[in-house]
Amino acid sequence: MTATAVTTTRAAAAPPLPAHPDPEASAVLESGLLQELSYAFDGPFHFLLPDRFDTNLAAFRAALAEAGVTGRVYYAKKANKAAVWVERCAATGAGVDVASAGELREALAHGVRGEDITVTGPAKHEQLLRVAVLQGALIAVDSPGELDRVLALTGGTTRPARVLLRRLPPDQPHSRFGLDDEETAAALRRCAAAGPAVSMEGFSFHLSGYALRPRADLAGRLVDECRAARALGLRADRISIGGGFAVDYAAADDWHGFLAEQRPEHYHAGKAFTAGDFYPYHSPLAGAGVLRAVLATTPEGHSASLARLLRDAGVTLMLEPGRALLDRAGATVFRVLGVKERDGYAVLTVDGSSLSLSEQWFNSEYLPDPVLLTEAGPARGPAVVAACVGGATCLESDMVTWRKVPLPARPREGDLLVYPNTAGYQMDSNESPFHDLPLPPKVVVDRPAGRPRWRLDRHA
Ligand SMILES: *Cc1c(COP(=O)(O)O)cnc(C)c1O
Repeated sequence: MTATAVTTTRAAAAPPLPAHPDPEASAVLESGLLQELSYAFDGPFHFLLPDRFDTNLAAFRAALAEAGVTGRVYYAKKANKAAVWVERCAATGAGVDVASAGELREALAHGVRGEDITVTGPAKHEQLLRVAVLQGALIAVDSPGELDRVLALTGGTTRPARVLLRRLPPDQPHSRFGLDDEETAAALRRCAAAGPAVSMEGFSFHLSGYALRPRADLAGRLVDECRAARALGLRADRISIGGGFAVDYAAADDWHGFLAEQRPEHYHAGKAFTAGDFYPYHSPLAGAGVLRAVLATTPEGHSASLARLLRDAGVTLMLEPGRALLDRAGATVFRVLGVKERDGYAVLTVDGSSLSLSEQWFNSEYLPDPVLLTEAGPARGPAVVAACVGGATCLESDMVTWRKVPLPARPREGDLLVYPNTAGYQMDSNESPFHDLPLPPKVVVDRPAGRPRWRLDRHA
């Protein structure tokens, strides 16, 4: 690189947004394993770190224990399709939250007991409801009609249908999910009248966004609703506060710097994104820390913390984290197939597509910077080149990364780009065999800190 070229490319590069340092993923990057796997699969792939999932799960459980709250963690399966997470749930006694017959089948097939499964999602398919009832799974009922359909299924079976009533969040009145106050009152009467055919075990909600206060407020309110439901003779001894525990991908300074400085020139073809559509890649409170804070909050209209309210009422707290259980539990590896020069920046083509980095679905972009991995190891040092990253498809809009990422070396054909921390929603939500390209395989890496061992995930 000439000095002039360096200056030009620096001017064009987007502000850096490196992911937090992660010793376990770094050990995998340093080990030489990824170059071997890229050679073996001859295409893009994802690697998964189940140890990290276990650590994240343990952190949620520790937060419950510290607060003296009886609680249960259910992994929201939609965040990643791999079998290994469900296997970890089965092995560690965690539950799984599913929303389709396929997800339910996967959870059961990999060893999770029916009674440890929650079934959420709107207007659930008949077959999903039937298997859920037969397996003793807990069904979050989303509408009056759905409660009718659940009750209709109970006739021939010996087990009662286990249900939670999903509540329409009062401060998200336009949500398309849940029962409003009137529907809830009617549903409670129906459950009471159904007698032993139904076990009404409590209430649930899932809020979009990451604010603490609405979660604590609604949870506090649902503890009261459990007490009221018990007066009708219903069990009502648990509430689910859903998911939405933020993940902290990047340092505060980098994130705020990125937001302040990014502008259309930092993106290929002048592409513009609305900053508000980006995931909040930095969160001072994240994962189990969010749970701790919610439990310590005094809900509106109460005079004790949520933890205290739950304890006093004998109500079990269920939570359904997806993204937060997968924090740092995997990454995505593409190989550079081609390098072009354009107006002072590089246009890379990699062997995968943006369908493996699902943020484009939300008209947004996955922002933690990819790491350039050469034959010699991860490239380090100050940025010398800016590069956007295109997929191996014939579509202008299939950009894995629109922004011109600052990279510490000029990428060459055969180098790898490793996108960090992609297990939560960024791996397989949108993958398709577009162009007849195979879906990227998932590789489970055990013992990342020692000599890493790998195996294929058993997702059917
Ligand atoms: C998506 C979803 C979750 C998981 O959300 P995260 O943001 O991944 O934690 C939990 N519960 C329900 C009902 C959901 O729809």
